[in-house]
Amino acid sequence: MSKIIATAAIRGAHKIFNQAEAALADAISQHGKDTKVEYPNTAYYLPIMLLFLGQKVQTLGDLEESLAEARKLLHDIPPDDVWLPYLGDTLDSGVATLIAEETIEALKYLNAAGKNGSGIWLGFTDDSILRMQGIKLVDGRMPGFAAIVGAAPTNREAVELIRGLQERNILVFMAGHSGGRAIAEQLAEEGIDMNWDTFLVPYGKEITSAVHALNFAARSAMTFGGVAPGGIKEAREILLYNKERVKAFVLALGEDPGVNSGQYLTDEKYATAAGAINFGFPVISNVNIPEILPTGICTYEHVVANVPVADIITRAAEVRGLTIKIEKIPIPVPYGAGFEGERVRKEDMFVQFGGKYTEAFELLRMKPMDQVEDGKIEVIGPEADQMTEGEAYPLGILVEVAGRKFQDDFESVVERRVHEYISCANGVFHMGQRSIIWVRISKEARAKGFKIAHLGTILIAKIHNDFSSILDRVQVKIITDPAKIKAPLEEAKKIYSHRDDRIAGMTDEDVEDFYSCVLCQSYAPNHVCIVTPERLGLCGAYTWLDCKASHQIDKHGPNEPVPKGECIDACKGQWRNVNAYISTKSHGNLERFNAYSILEEPMTSCGCFECIAAIVPEANGIMVVDREFAGMTPVGMKFSTLAGQIGGGTQTPGFVGIGKLYISSAKFVSAEGGIERVVWMPKALKEEIADRVKERLKKIGKEDLFDKIATEEQAETPDQLIEFLTRVEHPALALAPLL
Ligand code: SF4
Ligand code: ZN
Repeated sequence: MSKIIATAAIRGAHKIFNQAEAALADAISQHGKDTKVEYPNTAYYLPIMLLFLGQKVQTLGDLEESLAEARKLLHDIPPDDVWLPYLGDTLDSGVATLIAEETIEALKYLNAAGKNGSGIWLGFTDDSILRMQGIKLVDGRMPGFAAIVGAAPTNREAVELIRGLQERNILVFMAGHSGGRAIAEQLAEEGIDMNWDTFLVPYGKEITSAVHALNFAARSAMTFGGVAPGGIKEAREILLYNKERVKAFVLALGEDPGVNSGQYLTDEKYATAAGAINFGFPVISNVNIPEILPTGICTYEHVVANVPVADIITRAAEVRGLTIKIEKIPIPVPYGAGFEGERVRKEDMFVQFGGKYTEAFELLRMKPMDQVEDGKIEVIGPEADQMTEGEAYPLGILVEVAGRKFQDDFESVVERRVHEYISCANGVFHMGQRSIIWVRISKEARAKGFKIAHLGTILIAKIHNDFSSILDRVQVKIITDPAKIKAPLEEAKKIYSHRDDRIAGMTDEDVEDFYSCVLCQSYAPNHVCIVTPERLGLCGAYTWLDCKASHQIDKHGPNEPVPKGECIDACKGQWRNVNAYISTKSHGNLERFNAYSILEEPMTSCGCFECIAAIVPEANGIMVVDREFAGMTPVGMKFSTLAGQIGGGTQTPGFVGIGKLYISSAKFVSAEGGIERVVWMPKALKEEIADRVKERLKKIGKEDLFDKIATEEQAETPDQLIEFLTRVEHPALALAPLL
């Protein structure tokens, strides 16, 4: 244990504590103790206080109590020549620091009236983003996160470091500066897109904003780990969870001017690092800070110094025990999930395809073995070097596969991955599927030598990589010739609609086996999804066909067939074998569930639900809210609050997590009367699923019901809702009482 670190961390904790105390006193004198203090859209109050103190902070007065607790953790600053053998005082200082930083950051929202972030800085991560990104941690798309503090020596090194992290799918948080320079500013100067979609999240320029990375980690554990906060015991569980599951590390870049000799970084940074070490997150630096090498709280070393920026990712991965797969795809641009959400702006665009400009489609088909030449890529029409900058061209991407184990049911499953595969190339933007795709290639990608044929290179490599157990050969034809796109496009449209008819026509009664999904057990250990033809997984990402394909692809994967067995209750959706299966897989936590009921023993929820359905007792109906909707719902809770109550793999009668597609299913809460019970949903969601809902209503002869479903425009409270429902004579009011 280095005495410099201990002394500096303890001194830093005092400084940040004093800053928080002053900011709070100021806020109280201006606004009074009863004034509310909260981060936007979270069910976890101020997560750091909830974690370490079990405290639900709601007012400025509550914050006084938080700081009083933090004060108890502040130790006397030791004289520089005293050897401090234990990490304990440093760790206490770290906790005190995080509480003080959470106070400072939360106070920023007092005057901002719910506004989050400013300029390039994003501020607090709300629960909906946490859930959206959490699923990537769950399914392994994201191996971990890096919190970068400070700045790289040069902009070029900053860009290289960031590209390296993106290529490895590591989420990047940025906070603080060194000598007035922040890495996020370097990236902004280089025109790099920074937002949640590109895995690059600049929290704030002050070091105190680093607390957002740690409250993100704390909430991940509470959301996905099903660890409920309460006291010290729970805090320990959450920290342990973080150490084991959230593979994170801190990169401290650049020296700070004007600090004690041999110290290199400010006291405040050491104090914050001590907070991160409590989570088991080690600190790696490119400067000569004193190291803490023995293992203890962290899996490996606590602090590793003097690592050149170029080697820092590899070293951090070793220290943190991260398994990283870099995808080797022979194309001239970087490739990885970090680029998936990247956009190509019009001014940066070389050429584009589809969208509202030209005709474009993508289609994957199964072919006999002898008609597929593995690895063959054919471009029919102009290649990139024959294209004019700024123009739009048609695009037909025709992927043909062959394999003895391939079935035509799998076509759409593999085809749906085309979006992800193509958008992971740096400088290539892809949106939509089927005949509504929109693709852009950036000038930068073109300058590096990216060609149209490389779309084929990507698809062939990725499809082989992910689906080798069901297919042997892949070839790709890419059509860019305006004269040759029409006929294949018409043919593709026929195939799409044929597929829709088949899947839409499948019912739960048609099949003997349902499929399980236990992918989320890595985070919600007792959660099991049972996926049926008429009820997809609550994350919205896995349909019955997807699970079936996934099982064929990997027999030991997260999906297996569950034979229904004897039907116990056809109306509620309960089967003997399914009960036995979930009892085993939930480790005895669940005896049974009803697939089609919201009130009686409904399915459990892990945390990554697309929507939440909840009963509105006053209206004798059910409302559905999706995670994109941040407003108030008629049950008096926002999505984030609801989500906080139903996650973690437990049954909560009256509430259930669901996928969007389930809303228009014939089995949608059919035990309680189905779609006729739906009285409210957000306007944007209603518009998004309008076609399917209308089609469903047509089938039951209730087309007029669509306009009777209220949105936030008609009602935000039960009273307003009932008034509206009464006026339009919504059928739910006349159904059998829900309760
Ligand atoms: Fe998780 Fe269920 Fe989606 Fe599987 S289907 S990924 S278990 S939410
Ligand atoms: Zn989940």
